[in-house]
Amino acid sequence: MARVKIKEILGLSPQNQEITVKGWVRTFRNNQFIALNDGSTNNNLQVVVDFNNTPETILKRITTGAAIAATGTLIPSQGKGQTVELVAKTVEVIGDSDAEKYPLQPKKHSLEFLREIAHLRFRTNTFGAVFRIRHSLAYAIHKFFNDKGFLYLHTPIITASDAEGAGETFHVTNFDLNNIPRNEQGEINYKEDFFGKSTNLTVSGQLEGELGAMAFGDIYTFGPTFRAENSNTARHLAEFWMIEPEMAFYDLNDNMDLAEELLHYVIRYALEHNKEDIEFLTQRLLDEEKQKPQNERSEMNLMEKLNFCINNKFERVTYTEAISILRESNHNKKKKFQYLVNEWGVDLQSEHERYLVEKHFNKPVILTDYPKNIKAFYMRQNDDGKTVRAMDILFPGIGEIVGGSQREERLELLEQRMKEMNIPAEELSWYLDTRRFGSCPHAGFGLGFERLVLFVTGMTNIRDVIPFPRTPKNCEF
Ligand code: ATP
Ligand code: MN
Repeated sequence: MARVKIKEILGLSPQNQEITVKGWVRTFRNNQFIALNDGSTNNNLQVVVDFNNTPETILKRITTGAAIAATGTLIPSQGKGQTVELVAKTVEVIGDSDAEKYPLQPKKHSLEFLREIAHLRFRTNTFGAVFRIRHSLAYAIHKFFNDKGFLYLHTPIITASDAEGAGETFHVTNFDLNNIPRNEQGEINYKEDFFGKSTNLTVSGQLEGELGAMAFGDIYTFGPTFRAENSNTARHLAEFWMIEPEMAFYDLNDNMDLAEELLHYVIRYALEHNKEDIEFLTQRLLDEEKQKPQNERSEMNLMEKLNFCINNKFERVTYTEAISILRESNHNKKKKFQYLVNEWGVDLQSEHERYLVEKHFNKPVILTDYPKNIKAFYMRQNDDGKTVRAMDILFPGIGEIVGGSQREERLELLEQRMKEMNIPAEELSWYLDTRRFGSCPHAGFGLGFERLVLFVTGMTNIRDVIPFPRTPKNCEF
């Protein structure tokens, strides 16, 4: 008989219909009640075993973690917390699980412990919810762009350019590291390497994305990016996924409008399609907060926070305005910032971003027009000679979730900026061609996918929203 997924079964009206389910045992109580989960939903199906007519040898093998198949009839449930249950006629153990050795005991484990057994953590309620939401958000992103007529462009993973010039790249080579070819000067001879030049994993698909936008109009990328950032924070990964739309004929305002619409859309999509999982995570956070003193608890729970976010416009503020808000703040005057804000021109630290978003405006903020000296070469210069048309979107609890800009479309200004920043024009000649042949105003941004998943799930460590996190000194699984 065909297997039916538990998500579907839980929505059926019980009429003694015969059904087969397959899944993994969460718990088995009183030799009678199996809580069965198959990953299709956070909710378990209660399977009632007729223990008088089931051999003892089978009953013994129904243990936490075991894979089983059960066939029986669906009836209304007497138990609380469920509407239906399956009265099993047959139970087959497909894969045994030694209860003594199974690392996931039916109790609450810490997130840190579960990170060490990331190969099994999908089987917990929390991670089940997180990764179903992650899936939905990915789908919603593709749907959003597809419905708007954007083209999904696959930009390269291996590249010879470092988009930001930040240098936080991973090298790609097939040299024998014990015998690296060198030239007469003793330098590494990349001419003999696989690609005949020095190459690295991409830190961003933006530059190639711009090439696509100059032909298709609107494109987006959605792929993995790699940064050898040696910062062990709860918001940085060495391998993360980024969404990078790039649009011809867009200015910075169009860019901000699109980013805001996208974020509203995908959060709303998750609220509609992952209601139960978000409810579960909301309750989980509430339970966690019960251990905190009243004044440290959040004003809004997760569900309220998400609804608040989609029902309110983001605050748009220039860097210059932000600096004066920070400088005048009591926080700054009482020296509560680790880095005090005095001068215009400094890069904002995450404590400043969080102050603006969580204390001052109390909602997502888009900061624009940053000093050119703290931003990348390709951002469009303003007439003041000091700032560029950059935008960062800052989210409560997350900090920067989006970084973008209107791009410099004027060849001369772009070349001049590259010279100032020591970026070799010859290597980026292909990029500059877009400015030579049919250049036009255009803009784009990068949305960090894991930061988005963090926000929607209310998780606090980015290692808990990607299946197998890669961070300094850690590359398991
Ligand atoms: P941050 O200041 O937080 O390091 P950034 O300025 O380096 O961010 P961008 O280069 O603008 O970020 O990248 C675009 C987006 O990618 C960021 O807004 C963020 O959402 C995400 N992002 C950047 N670095 C990481 C990382 N190491 N891990 C996960 N997401 C990241
Ligand atoms: Mn960074």
